[in-house]
Formats: sequence, C-alpha cells, structure tokens
Amino acid sequence: VPEHPFSSLEGIVPEQLYEQCRNLAKELQGMRILHLNATAYGGGVSEILKSFVPFCNDLGVETAWHIMPPDEAFFEVTKGFHNGLQGAKYSLSETAKKLYLEHNKRTAELLAKMDFDVYIIHDPQPLAVIEYLPDLHPSIWRCHIDTTTANEGLWQFLSPYVNKYDRYIFTMEQFAHDSLDRSKLRVFTPTIDPLTPKNNPLEWGKAAKILEEFGIDISRPVVTQISRFDPWKDPLGVMKAYRILKKNHPDLQLALVGSLASDDPEAVGILEEVKRAAGDDKDIHILTNLDGVRDKEVNAFQTASDVIIQKSLREGFGLTVAEALWKSTPVVAGRVGGITTQIQDGHTGYLVDSVNECAERLDHLLHDGHLRELMGERGKEYVRENFLMAREVRDFLALCKEVVTK
Ligand code: UDP
Repeated sequence: VPEHPFSSLEGIVPEQLYEQCRNLAKELQGMRILHLNATAYGGGVSEILKSFVPFCNDLGVETAWHIMPPDEAFFEVTKGFHNGLQGAKYSLSETAKKLYLEHNKRTAELLAKMDFDVYIIHDPQPLAVIEYLPDLHPSIWRCHIDTTTANEGLWQFLSPYVNKYDRYIFTMEQFAHDSLDRSKLRVFTPTIDPLTPKNNPLEWGKAAKILEEFGIDISRPVVTQISRFDPWKDPLGVMKAYRILKKNHPDLQLALVGSLASDDPEAVGILEEVKRAAGDDKDIHILTNLDGVRDKEVNAFQTASDVIIQKSLREGFGLTVAEALWKSTPVVAGRVGGITTQIQDGHTGYLVDSVNECAERLDHLLHDGHLRELMGERGKEYVRENFLMAREVRDFLALCKEVVTK
C-alpha cells in the first residue's frame, strides 16, 4: 500500500476524533497488529484496508496486511458461505467443509511463522485459522455480513470458530447471530477515506463536464444509482421509479452506473436485463467500467447528480451512500441494513420501502432545489462526524487497547 499520512486528515475530520486517534496511537506505540483477509482487490474490505493500514502505520502503530493464498476452488466454497450466511438457500457438503478447512490450515501454517500483538481476521474466508493456532490471541473477527438469518447447517459449522475469538465486530448489532455472546460483540460501521480519487473534492464544473462526456445533458435534471448489477441493488426498481417520475419531469435523465468484473456472469446477465428494460429511452444512461467509469468518474456522478439513489433491497452498509452524502448530494435509498444508520430520514435524505415511495421522494426533491442543498449539506456533516476513516481508526485502536490490557 502506498504511504498515506494520517495528518492529511487534519482539518477534514472532527478535531476531537483526530486527537483521539493521535492519543490512542501514542499509547499503542510499538504494538504490532495484523489484518488478514481474502483479497487485495475488489470488495469493501480491501477498499478500506488500502487506506486504513497506511494511516495506522503513519500513526506509529505497526500494522501489517496479509492476504490468504488465492485458490479458486476455495473461493467458490466461500462465495457459497457468503450467500448462505446472508440467508440464501444453501446446503453444506462434506467436500466444501474439507476444502475450507484445508485452506485455512494452510494459511494458519504461514501465520504460525509470524508474531503480532493483535490479530484481526476479516470475514468468513480466514475465520477458521484460529482452529489451528491456539496462540492466536488476542484476536478479533471483523464480520461485514448480516448473519441474522444464516443458514442453520452452515452456522453450526462456522460458529465454533467464531466463539474462539476474543471479540467480534459487526456493522449493526442486529447483524450478529442470536447465538453469539453479546459481551464479546462490538458494533461499528465501515467508513470512507475522504482523500481518494473517488472522494477527493471535485469542482462541480469539472464533474459536470465528465457527465457531459458520457452523454448527459447537465442543464437537465439527472438522478443516478451507482452499484454492482445485482438483484439486491434493485436496478429494475430504480427504472420503474424513473418511469413514474418521467410523467412529471419529462426532462429527467437516469444514470445507472455499475462496475462489471469480466468473470462475473451473473452481473453480465443482469446488465443485459437492465438494458432490455431501458429499451430505446435515450434518457437512460447505463454505464460500466468498460465505458471508462472509474473512481474519478464515480466521484463526478456523485457530485453532479441532482439526487443519488441506492434502492437496495438488502445492504450490509452501502458505501455509496456515505460517498454521495460526502459530496453534499442528497440520497434516496432503501430502508435496509446499514443504509438506515447513514440516512436520517427526512433530514439528510429519504428512506423508502417501495418503488412508488422512491418516485414520490425523488419528485419532492427534484421540485425543491433549496431542500436538496439543505439535505446535502446536513448529509455531508453527518458523514464528517460519523463515517470518515478517522472514526474507524479510533474504534479499532481503542479495541486493540482493550484486548491487550484485559
Ligand atoms: N463502485 C465503483 N464503481 C461502480 C460501482 C460501484 O467504484 O461502477 C464502488 C462504490 O463507489 C463503492 C463500492 O463500489 O465504493 C460498493 O460498495 P457498497 O458498500 O455500496 O456495495 P457492495 O458492492 O459492497 O455491495
């Protein structure tokens, strides 16, 4: 990871938070912390660690980031675990168990050669390393998934490993399975780095120009959803809301922006479905990374759209919400999961339960520029206080302090 001085957050994050990080880091000088996850690229965890790890090192807390050795068959199994933990239909096979444990054992053998003061293990993939390392303490499992409705058989298999950890962190209290010991549970949300190309301040004029390059007429209203082409992100619902709105706002344009991994056949199918649903409507712009939408372009859409939509039907956190609010753009989003911690309904945006409600709220905001501005400004302040990375640095350092001194 490139160097990333923590001091660059000074003046951006609340002063008290900045000082808390500095003070905690002073107390923890010399401490060595390990973060272990499954992948260096793609997904929220690597997005966070890319900034989080250099910030901690810069603060003088030696923080290492290691990745499990990649293995395609293993990732197939853990993809099934991910869905099964989130409540999808799943049947755990003996082969899957064997493959999962073998790979965790292999990772544990590599870890055994290392020595850290605190071990932070992210998500289900490396969860079971603790089985093979009795000395892996103090250790923390950071789970980014909602396990409330986890597949029973899968949970019975995985929970003995979860129970071996000294603490576990979930994004929301209700995401932690009922069977978990509440005294070990800590709750805090992910955060965004305000200093990346995606979140750096971008002048409205420059952002507008980028949208124009994608064929958007910036003199007319535009609403945008940025998310993977995934049924849980409800792109078809967004389009239905847009069609309802179009009656009152014939000028309206909709942008559906999503990254597309070439090895994700499901996303390609959904993209095709979305394109079919859009038909020949020239005011619907469906764009992917293959069209050149990268971090700066995402930033431009979040900056220059009139309203950002995130009409998810299920959501762990929804980084896109914090990202949009950080650009003072109000958000209309599904009342699900971590989104509800980010949007103060009616204050910084709107939470919605249906296509009709989504259309109504967008209609209201599109009619009222003053309200959009007001909500956007409040949203930015709320993100500044709660969802910028210094907050996560503080929470992690405080927890590390707690587990080493307990
Ligand atoms: N993202 C992106 N380009 C896209 C679509 C999404 O860079 O075309 C980013 C988005 O800005 C956010 C992340 O991918 O940082 C998605 O995180 P989120 O928590 O919203 O959803 P997830 O994909 O993890 O379910």
